[in-house]
Amino acid sequence: MSGENCFEILDKIFIPKHKKNINDIKGYTIKYGNIVENGNIIDEVLVSYFKAPKSYTTENMCEINSHGGNIIVKKILEMCLENGANLAEPGEFTKRAFLNGRIDLLQAESVIDVINAKSEREAKTGIKQLEGYLSKEISNIKQEIMDVMVNIEVSIDYPEYDVDDVTNSQISDMLESVQKKLEKLEKSFDNGKIIKEGIKTVIVGRPNAGKSSLLNAILKEDRAIVTQYEGTTRDTIEEFVTVNGIPLKLVDTAGIRNAEDEVEKIGIEKSREEIKNADLVIAIFDASEDLTKEDIEILELIKGKKTIIVLNKNDLEQKVDEKNEKLKEISNSIIKISALNKTGIEDIYNEISKLFDLNEINLDQEIVITNVRQKNLINKAIENVKKAKETLKEKMPLDIIAIFIKDILEDLGSITGEIVTDDIIDEIFSKFCLGK
Ligand code: GDP
Repeated sequence: MSGENCFEILDKIFIPKHKKNINDIKGYTIKYGNIVENGNIIDEVLVSYFKAPKSYTTENMCEINSHGGNIIVKKILEMCLENGANLAEPGEFTKRAFLNGRIDLLQAESVIDVINAKSEREAKTGIKQLEGYLSKEISNIKQEIMDVMVNIEVSIDYPEYDVDDVTNSQISDMLESVQKKLEKLEKSFDNGKIIKEGIKTVIVGRPNAGKSSLLNAILKEDRAIVTQYEGTTRDTIEEFVTVNGIPLKLVDTAGIRNAEDEVEKIGIEKSREEIKNADLVIAIFDASEDLTKEDIEILELIKGKKTIIVLNKNDLEQKVDEKNEKLKEISNSIIKISALNKTGIEDIYNEISKLFDLNEINLDQEIVITNVRQKNLINKAIENVKKAKETLKEKMPLDIIAIFIKDILEDLGSITGEIVTDDIIDEIFSKFCLGK
């Protein structure tokens, strides 16, 4: 329970072993006792006390730890409600923490990210955001924009000083710097998305090219952390793997594993669909044989996709190499491996890192945009920076530029929640589960 009256309500249903006046109980303490109704003991519980403002919501709070199970928990909840508490809405605790100013909107959103994290890295990013790294970056950018504003206002107020050209170039430099920072944040969204969802990867190749051998080599990698998910269609399995720090979502691993006689069944249509939805295609070929008709068909299928071509079986005599025109047409990333001997696999990871611009610094970077709301606002701010720059170039009056500058401040304010409508707040917190 959170709120001004929560200790009063608690007092009506909880009898601590050594009863003390609530004013004498310190925050951050736990009391042992019974939940009692009409003299009957309902359960033996522990109650934690948090006194305002030192609590999650900054309000008085208490947490009743009862025995688990549906009946008791429901009963205690009912008793709280009967004695004056209201049922919390989804995310209401975090919402109060936000409305009471303990955390900003970015931090509130990161609570959902932490709860829903599927990988350690995702959780780590969420925690960083909860700690306020992103908020700090936004506030730094805001400070820079304020400096621009000050510069403009001085010029508006003292038109007798003929500083126009100097001011113009100063303001232009400042806007340039802000734009760079915002664009970096915008780009971090792609990384954020990769961290959240993994790079959706499809391994394609004709039968016997070595798909399942490669898949096994990837999944059995020492440092691979594998989580299996049921795919979007019933007969597929998606596997979330983090290898060498690269989060991959491997699609249709079941199809590959059972490939022996399923190839026909899997069919070209389905592959087409999977390839279409993939972020990355790993196309594997048996380099100990000339390209077959099927290989060529596959090359047709993956045209235009981000592709790594893997020439497998390089332990055998090679019939195809990276100079092959048909392969070069599709991709510059051509890697030779032996899935059997597990050589060259590392080169594939390095190539993925290169293709997606993922280095440890990018992935471990503290500041990552993780949701579309944040990204849209960053985009809007960038647009307004561009407009301000244009206005400046056209030598329009400074007070017109000031309008765009104010818009940028507003966009940034909406990200952290300083300026935000109730609708948006409601929408954000409706994504929470109850009790958070
Ligand atoms: P898939 O049908 O594409 O999944 O191919 P598999 O992974 O099942 O491999 C087909 C056959 O090629 C198997 O007998 C593998 O042992 C063999 N194979 C796979 N990779 C290599 C390799 O790098 N070198 C050699 N010599 N044989 C391989």
